[in-house]
Amino acid sequence: MEKYCHACGMPLEKKEDFAGNNEQSDFCVHCADENGNVHTCEEIFEGGVQFFMGAAGADRALAERVTRKNMKKLPYWQGNENAVLQGDEATDVEFAEAMGKTVKNFFLVMKSFKLVVFAPITHADAVREAMGQAGAGKIGNYTHCSFSSRGTGRFLPGEGANPTIGEVGKPEEVEEERIEVLCDEESIDAVISAMKAAHPYEEVAYDVYLLGAR
Ligand SMILES: [Zn+2]
Repeated sequence: MEKYCHACGMPLEKKEDFAGNNEQSDFCVHCADENGNVHTCEEIFEGGVQFFMGAAGADRALAERVTRKNMKKLPYWQGNENAVLQGDEATDVEFAEAMGKTVKNFFLVMKSFKLVVFAPITHADAVREAMGQAGAGKIGNYTHCSFSSRGTGRFLPGEGANPTIGEVGKPEEVEEERIEVLCDEESIDAVISAMKAAHPYEEVAYDVYLLGAR
């Protein structure tokens, strides 16, 4: 997976992008000193505000709201109660506009995905719960958000298959649920692993869609 700074979201592409030229670091050269010590929340917030005022042409109030929204999505600031992170955040539209005006792919963490998985109804709750616990389905102050619909799954187990339901060489029909959840870049790998662990099938049918910025 591409790396990005855990404190500001900047992509870490070349050695010089990393704090202290250390490619093991989770932070960019702007957010941490050469020893890897991360700057204060206030310093990084101010850096973000200046960046958006310059790169996106935002006024100070909008730049603060965009910076706040960005930082609060990043892993390093989870649970941080610093005063600069409290207050209004940019709307999704404002945020996407500000991002669109900055360097392409600047905020990799903003990539979001729709994960769709098909599970037999007997295991649908377990699969939903596992994905929610792994971080799927976060929308604002809500977690474990999902949508499910029912239908018929069909498959024909071939030679060498070890089907949970049905038998080799016999066409099978199973009542299944199509479960849809949102995932961010941070959680998508863990969500897929958790989903597969909770799913009873030998071969799990699922799709991952990359979503647009708006
Ligand atoms: Zn950074």
